[in-house]
Amino acid sequence: IVVAANVTKQFGSLKALNDVSLAIPFGAVQCIIGPSGSGKSTLLRCINQLEKIDGGAIWVDGELIGYRRVGDELHELSDAEIARQRLTTGMVFQRFNLFNHMTVLQNIIEGPLTVMKRPRREIVAEGMALLERVGLAEKRDSYPIELSGGQQQRIAIARALAMKPKLMLFDEPTSALDPELVGEVLAVMRDLAASGMTMIVVTHELGFAREVASDVVFMDKGEIVERGAPDAVLVAPQHARTRDFIAAVL
Ligand code: ATP
Ligand code: MG
Repeated sequence: IVVAANVTKQFGSLKALNDVSLAIPFGAVQCIIGPSGSGKSTLLRCINQLEKIDGGAIWVDGELIGYRRVGDELHELSDAEIARQRLTTGMVFQRFNLFNHMTVLQNIIEGPLTVMKRPRREIVAEGMALLERVGLAEKRDSYPIELSGGQQQRIAIARALAMKPKLMLFDEPTSALDPELVGEVLAVMRDLAASGMTMIVVTHELGFAREVASDVVFMDKGEIVERGAPDAVLVAPQHARTRDFIAAVL
């Protein structure tokens, strides 16, 4: 569902992504690990069109993102077309990014209501089903500040799912949480993976990666250094840089 071919992204003279290629099939869980500044967030932001790439190409759900091919030329898509493409993808950040002036249920139905313009009755029912799924139905009328970080992050996941994305991106979803709250968020993500959702997960939770990932890539300095099955990369890495990173995280 995601193909990235030779993607580069520069910030001034800094190569944040250097010739990055990936192919992620439907239903796969792609974990991305790597040190700070290695380009993990930048890669997710390029896939989600929060950043524009400088070279290479990315396809999501069969569509070239950001451009349309006209003969031999590539034409940039309009903002409206980019907004439409972005609906394919849900994203969950390190910080929860909920709307603090809205209740939990309002947070979840906001997208379907205002962006998709769907009938309220239908989306309230769907929103409640999503709240059940993340184990927070009884919090429907609470405000985000009344919830723990782990609960807020589970709501953020439900809110992304309310838009019925085909692909979910997670950028260190548990790294801002107190250790005792990490498990409940990973459990929701594990269920989501088991339900067949295609996911790209940037995480330092190597246990989760080993258990849930279909494939793991290790990035360093904007490049993919090593990739493969979770056990190959996490347990028996080939590259010294991967070994050093894993030793530092564990
Ligand atoms: P972390 O683990 O700390 O989140 P990361 O792997 O997600 O790191 P990125 O955020 O993708 O790393 O950043 C990759 C590089 O690009 C870093 O050197 C960063 O400083 C730089 N960078 C990221 N965003 C910008 C920006 N908007 N402007 C300039 N430089 C940026
Ligand atoms: Mg990051």
